[in-house]
Amino acid sequence: MKSAVFKHLGLTLAGVMVLSACTTNPITGRSQFMIVSESMAVTQSAAAYNQMMGGLAEKHQVEDDSPRAQQVRSITERLIAQAVRYRPGSASWAWEVRVINDSKVVNAFCMAGGKMAIYTGMWEKLKATDDEIAQVMGHEIAHALADHTRERMSIAMTSQAGTQLAAIALASREHQGIALAGAQMAALLAIELPNSRDGEAEADQIGIELAARAGFDPAAAVSLWEKMAKEGGGGPPEFLSTHPSAENRAARLRELGVKVQPLYAAAKARAPESAPKFLAAKEAINERVVTRPGEPTREEYARQGAKDTLSFMTESFERFKRGETVLECRVQCSYGYNNGKAQWKQLHARGLWRDLAVSVIQVGYLSDLSYYFLAEAARGLQLKEASRTYYRRALDAGKQYGCAAEGCEGLEVDKLSRAALTR
Ligand SMILES: [Zn+2]
Repeated sequence: MKSAVFKHLGLTLAGVMVLSACTTNPITGRSQFMIVSESMAVTQSAAAYNQMMGGLAEKHQVEDDSPRAQQVRSITERLIAQAVRYRPGSASWAWEVRVINDSKVVNAFCMAGGKMAIYTGMWEKLKATDDEIAQVMGHEIAHALADHTRERMSIAMTSQAGTQLAAIALASREHQGIALAGAQMAALLAIELPNSRDGEAEADQIGIELAARAGFDPAAAVSLWEKMAKEGGGGPPEFLSTHPSAENRAARLRELGVKVQPLYAAAKARAPESAPKFLAAKEAINERVVTRPGEPTREEYARQGAKDTLSFMTESFERFKRGETVLECRVQCSYGYNNGKAQWKQLHARGLWRDLAVSVIQVGYLSDLSYYFLAEAARGLQLKEASRTYYRRALDAGKQYGCAAEGCEGLEVDKLSRAALTR
C-alpha cells in the first residue's frame, strides 16, 4: 500500500476499507491495493483501449502497415511468449499492440489485459533501436504482469475525482452501463498516473529479464534511459512522468543487465523457439488466434514453461523445488498471510502452481495451511518428493501452528495432508 500516493491524491478513504482491499502479488510478493477485480480490469481496459484507438484511427493516427509497426509486432510477440510463462493466466489475454503516430510523444503503455501502444516519438525523437524498443515494451508488459496497471486503476477509482464514479460502479456492477463509465475512465487514468518507486523497480527487473530471454540486448536498457534523460527539448518525455526515474536507475539497470546477460547469450545461441502467436492478426484484431493442429495451445505453452521462474526469485524457488523451503516467520508476516490466504485458495483452484508457491514463499508465514499450499503447489508441478516433505511439515506445523485460529479457508489441512501422504 502506498500511503504517499494516497496522500498525494487527497484520498479520503476509511482505513478499514484500504486494509481489506490489499492483496499479495503472486509474481512479486508485494502487497498491493486492489479494489478492481482482474476480470473487470481486463474488460474495462479493452473497452477504453478500443475507444481510444477508434478515435485515433479516425484522425489517421494509427500506423498498422509501416515497417516499424510490423517490427513492433514481431518484437512484442517474442516478449509475450516469455511473459506468459511467468503468468500463465495471461496466455488467454487478447494481447494487442498499435503504433500511434505522434512524433512529439515519447511514450508507450500496456493496459491490464495486454492492450499496448507505442508512440512514434520513440523513433522520431529518441532514434530508438529494436533492442531499445524491446526494453520499453518489456518494461510496459512487466507493469501489466505485476498488476501495476490494475493497482493504478484501483487508485484512480478511489481518488477524490473518481470516488463517486467508483462507488456507483462498485455498488451497481450489474448495471453495466454505469459501471462501464467509471471503470473505463479509471483504465485510462491508470496509464496516466505515475507508477510508484517500488513499481518501477519491479518493472525494470522483470522487463529486462523478459527482453533478455526473448533475445534482446540488456545493454539497450541503459542506453535507452540515457537517451530519455537527455531528451529535454520541449520538456521531459511523457514516459518519464508516468515512469519516474530514480537517480541511480542507469546504474541499477547496468547491474540487472549483468545478471541477465547469460539468459541473453543463451537466447541468442539457440534456434528461435516455436511459440504460438499471441497477437491477433491485424485483420482479426480482438479475435482469438487459432493454433494449428499439433501445436501447443497458448495455455499449454504457458503451462509448459511454468516450472521455471524469474531470476530475481530463482534462489528461493529452487530451494522450494528441492523441498528445502522452511517457514519461520510469525508475527511480522501475519498481515501478509491474512491477506494472502484467500488468494492462495484461488490460485490453488486455478492450478497456478508456480504463482501459488512464489506467493506463499514470499509471505513466509509459518502455519500448517502455508505448508499445505506449498505441498499442493509442488504436487501440481510434479515435484513428488518435495510435495511429500511439505505435507509432512504441514502435519508438524499443525501441532503448534494450526490455521484453525485464523481460519483455514474451509480446508481440513490435517486430514488432507494425511490422505496425500498415503497416496
Ligand atoms: Zn514503468
